[in-house]
Amino acid sequence: MPDMKTYTPMIQQYLKIKAEVPDAFLFFRLGDFYEMFFDDALKASRELEITLTARDGGVEEKIPMCGVPYHSAAGYIEQLIDKGFKVAICEQTEDPTHAKGIVKREIVQMITPGTVMDSRSLEEKENHYLAAVTGFDDDTYSMAHLDLSTGESKVTILSSKDEAIHELVTIQAREVVLASDADESFVKVLSDRGIRSISYMDDTTVESTFSTILSELKQDKLQLSMARLLHYVQNTQKRSLDHLQQASAYQVDAFLRMDPNSKRNLELTETIRGNSKKGSLVWLLDETITAMGARMMRRWIDRPLINQKQIEERHSIVEVLIDRYFERAELRERLKEVYDLERLAGRVAFGNVNPRDLVQLKKSLQQVPAIKETLLSMNDQKITEDAKKLDPCSDIADRLEAAIIEQAPLVIKDGNFIKDCFNEELDQYRDASRNGKKWIAELEQKEREKTGIRSLKIGYNRVFGYYIEVTKSNLHALPEGMYDRKQTLTNAERFITPELKEKESLILQAEERSIDLEYSLFQGLREEIKQEIPRLQKLAQEISRLDVLQCFATISEERHYSKPAFNHERIIHISEGRHPVVEKVMDSQEYVPNDCQMDESCEMLLITGPNMSGKSTYMRQVALTSILAQIGCFVPAANANLPIFDRIFTRIGAADDLVSGQSTFMVEMLEARHAIAHATQNSLVLFDEIGRGTSTYDGMALAQAIIEYVHDRIGAKTLFSTHYHELTSLDQELSKLANVHVSAVEQNGHVVFLHKIKEGPADKSYGIHVAQLADLPKALIGRANEILVGLESGYQRIEPAVELKNKELASTINEEASIGQLSLFGEELQPKKSKKADALYREMAKINVMEMTPMEAMNELYRLQKLAKSMNESK
Ligand code: ADP
Repeated sequence: MPDMKTYTPMIQQYLKIKAEVPDAFLFFRLGDFYEMFFDDALKASRELEITLTARDGGVEEKIPMCGVPYHSAAGYIEQLIDKGFKVAICEQTEDPTHAKGIVKREIVQMITPGTVMDSRSLEEKENHYLAAVTGFDDDTYSMAHLDLSTGESKVTILSSKDEAIHELVTIQAREVVLASDADESFVKVLSDRGIRSISYMDDTTVESTFSTILSELKQDKLQLSMARLLHYVQNTQKRSLDHLQQASAYQVDAFLRMDPNSKRNLELTETIRGNSKKGSLVWLLDETITAMGARMMRRWIDRPLINQKQIEERHSIVEVLIDRYFERAELRERLKEVYDLERLAGRVAFGNVNPRDLVQLKKSLQQVPAIKETLLSMNDQKITEDAKKLDPCSDIADRLEAAIIEQAPLVIKDGNFIKDCFNEELDQYRDASRNGKKWIAELEQKEREKTGIRSLKIGYNRVFGYYIEVTKSNLHALPEGMYDRKQTLTNAERFITPELKEKESLILQAEERSIDLEYSLFQGLREEIKQEIPRLQKLAQEISRLDVLQCFATISEERHYSKPAFNHERIIHISEGRHPVVEKVMDSQEYVPNDCQMDESCEMLLITGPNMSGKSTYMRQVALTSILAQIGCFVPAANANLPIFDRIFTRIGAADDLVSGQSTFMVEMLEARHAIAHATQNSLVLFDEIGRGTSTYDGMALAQAIIEYVHDRIGAKTLFSTHYHELTSLDQELSKLANVHVSAVEQNGHVVFLHKIKEGPADKSYGIHVAQLADLPKALIGRANEILVGLESGYQRIEPAVELKNKELASTINEEASIGQLSLFGEELQPKKSKKADALYREMAKINVMEMTPMEAMNELYRLQKLAKSMNESK
């Protein structure tokens, strides 16, 4: 880069300011534009698809430049923020007419993904969190997070790096603030998990302005992260922090915990394929009416309860709301009139509230008395208690009703939104201006009569104020010197009179004063309401909660859910359970309900059955039923009695993702390790086709080892689905393991899935049948059957795999396995020769595979296997 001094003074100024914000786009105000230069310009022109130009900057080569108009900057800023970038707004901070040399410029605000306040960038049904994390020498972490739009702030301690990352992913932090010497691997993992907006702040001193926010935080560790966060907010927002609520500490293990992968696998907020909300649990439960209710529901799904009393409190309210259909309908109608109280309060506090917002606030508050009345009319003790707590803030509502007109504008500075009779002084100004205007209208009439010029008119423009206009053709009728000449147009002459000027200044003064007064009245009103923010926030919480509970009642009634009961004996009893989302998606088709019975003596269900028969669906329905129960909703079952789970783990075999190969299997194993390391007796673990991501014997060995480990050492309630039919014999050795299977029947040579869970192991893998259903060529299916027969007979020799107990054995098995696999591609299967075997081969050679139905093939295979077994025994 050339020497700084060779640049023009303005570019020098630019470069100096840009050096403060190397990681943000610098929007540099030049007249009516925000301009960007150098690399920022190159990048912005690409990201925003705007024209790249160049300008002289004092050096030989022109400087790349691009810009966006000031008045439409918001949209461009939003685009950049949505892409995870940061934007620094640099304004002229002195009046250019008074400036000596270059106008002073300063960064007045930083807009970053975690601090954006503009409602257009805020997804209304989601919270928008900015987080700060601090790592300590003992490998614990503290994490603070806040939502600037609502002022909510929370802090927690996490016991490991993994947990810290899980928590950041759980709250979907939009931006994370770290110490500048933070672990690079931490940043890397965050970025892999989709959190790419990282900022740095080293100042963690507790300033006096933080004291209210921090007052509840007793531990230094907690204060540290919150202080880091507050310094960052102060630095970027460059304004006071008094809109933030008191930070509260929480503990992650005070809730049902699920790591981000488990949540993803259960499709709580979005589907795995396509990442769409449709098809997720949130989508199913999308019956909240207010945006704040929707946000609260997401928070509840993120953190289901583990406190039985709290859970049952929610259930009992849901129960009453289900029963009282008409009252619930009334509540829903009322809630439709309630705006986003939480964010409105946030805007009042933050200072960016506008007149229309205040009207929305008023209308929302005015719904509360009716909501309260409806709740009271339900005559339920708990609901009555809650209803009594609702503070309709009538004083605020009344004040706003008196102050602001119904059709209020979005902008404050043009005035005309305060009602007449609200303020005496304002009324006087308005009278003056209205009377003045009336006087002028009368003057026009008078002057017309006086001069006899009928086209004489009185007009107004910003430059000249009020004037009398006479067209050129009428000028002759005007006595010389009657008015003072002011301006000559092509066709007309404009005049003024001292009298007119006097009235004009009265009117303009009155208008100006009334606009100023409205502005300050608005500020006063805002300050008044700001004092009441805690009341508004509390009300917002209560209304949100009511909204979520009515949503649960509505869904539970519509979809025929039932109220679950809980036990402390770790018993799962679900009768006629359904997968809530699959059931909804299937719509008119019949969803087959299934029971799940796991009493004290049963820790583990081994679920076998053909692909696509419904194993995953069944396992997920058990987990989702528990989650629904623990967030306070009824459950999709005829009857459910459940333990209260402390954690839920869901692991999915990686075979679905063959493209990424080995590394995916590594992920599968890492996830399994995570579950094994953290599951307790009170956890629910779902292993869906674990071990599928590697070769058969390898995978089967691992699957078995995992089953044994969880069974013997953890004792969590575990559902394990597998297509390794061989594992079903484990029930002989593992006392707390039971086999169930998803039934399928053969009809006219085809497999029909019944999706019905039954006791005992599945008969066989129906893979080839499924291939047949998929209409693969007949010859191919025939060949597959032929190979299957061969493999099954070969399998006899490697049966120890099932009883695999240690690594040594595993390696010998692997060798054998590869021999078996090689033969797959040979013309003939050639197991070790023996006379008895020869007999068996002869039997096999006789079979006309191509003529058999799959069922006949199975039967034949069964016969041959029996034969082979009997030969082995007699050896
Ligand atoms: P698997 O895990 O055995 O391969 P899935 O659980 O993925 O099978 O289920 C495959 C499909 O079968 C699902 O997408 C769903 O459409 C259907 N299905 C599963 N369970 C049921 C059920 N109980 N009733 C009706 N259809 C079901």
